[in-house]
Amino acid sequence: MTSKFIITGKVFNHDKFVRKSIIINNGKIVDIKDGTYSKSSYRIINLPEKFIICQGFVDAHVHCRDFQESHKETLKTCEEAAFAGGVVAIGDMPNTRPRINNLEVLLRRLELAKKLKIIYKVHVGVPEDLNEIEKMVKLGVKSIKIYPEDWVEYGHRHIMSLLKLARKYNLIIITHCEDLDMIMYSRYIHDFKFHNKIRCRQAEIVATLSMIKLALKYGFKLHITHTSIPDVIDCVNPVRRYIDITIDTTPHYVLLSQDECLDRVNVSGYCKVNPPLRDVKDRVKLLDYLTKGHVDFIVSDHAPHSVEEKCSEYSRCPSGFPGLETTLPLLLTLWKNQILSFRDVLKLYSINPSNFLNVNIDVSINNYAYLTIIDSEKDYVINPEEFKSKAKYSPFINFKVKGRVVATFVKGELVYVHTDYLDLFSTIM
Ligand SMILES: [Zn+2]
Repeated sequence: MTSKFIITGKVFNHDKFVRKSIIINNGKIVDIKDGTYSKSSYRIINLPEKFIICQGFVDAHVHCRDFQESHKETLKTCEEAAFAGGVVAIGDMPNTRPRINNLEVLLRRLELAKKLKIIYKVHVGVPEDLNEIEKMVKLGVKSIKIYPEDWVEYGHRHIMSLLKLARKYNLIIITHCEDLDMIMYSRYIHDFKFHNKIRCRQAEIVATLSMIKLALKYGFKLHITHTSIPDVIDCVNPVRRYIDITIDTTPHYVLLSQDECLDRVNVSGYCKVNPPLRDVKDRVKLLDYLTKGHVDFIVSDHAPHSVEEKCSEYSRCPSGFPGLETTLPLLLTLWKNQILSFRDVLKLYSINPSNFLNVNIDVSINNYAYLTIIDSEKDYVINPEEFKSKAKYSPFINFKVKGRVVATFVKGELVYVHTDYLDLFSTIM
């Protein structure tokens, strides 16, 4: 593959699309010119009008699994899924086996991740030994994920000590907000159709409010992940002026209710996710809040499991499904349907999460070229069989989307190209 090339196409610049040529040498952007441009000794990729060149996309919440769960996904297959979804940077979650919540496992994880081309960041779990935090920070850790179960496992006092240290080390506390006590005392029959009654919306509100109270008390940065109901935003917005707080949601909470999901899949387990999919009323209002700018960014919560595991009965069926290869097409569909602007899509799935993960992927001179190419006019139907992820199922199966990820570049290297578009890139392959 050649290291010197010029890619010309539509770029989103100051709220409009303009044709630009990005000149890349040895992985870096060395110049950007208006219109078409050529230079001797440089190969040329000249993209037709319907293609858009974007800065790469960023997914701050994925589960790459690996370790003892490599049958679900490995770092390698997770990376392949990310590239096929136009994603160039990921934030990996710590609930692996073993968990990434001590120095030894963290070092093993970072060593494994060195083989990746994607920008890899990891959120560590609640450390068993809080004295290890300082060394974790020196290794580049910027965030700690707290799961509902952690309150039971580590106890209130341990987590309070952690929250005080979070402020000291400027760590972001990422929380999955669901109150386990409320879930445990639920009287509903254990069945997929009651999943969102068992894990009720009140459990999410209660957990959100108690985390906000702690953030107000201790002053740490708080990030509430995978918000499934608009009520969480109603809790967060009034305190934004007092604390450093951000929230994300996923495409499934704004596009699918639990009933709609159960209607479209042949395996009920494919709809099981925590927090659960809610009612139509909730997803409509959450989408409305998203369009009004009340959500800081979008994550996929890519959470792969094997098909066999997802086919288990309710209590044994693990929660979550893959999302790296559906998130960008779904957001592009919201853009094409004029629900989001293109600027919103870039902000929600690239600019804001890149700030959150502290990665620099701007398309500007002297930066490495992290680019995603999109065919803005390609309509297709989501087919999980085509996923690069090991988890070849999705609640979005047969969902009609508008906009295809064509190719992904990492440090100027073409790391993914969809088979229908190989010809476009033949000059550099
Ligand atoms: Zn998750």
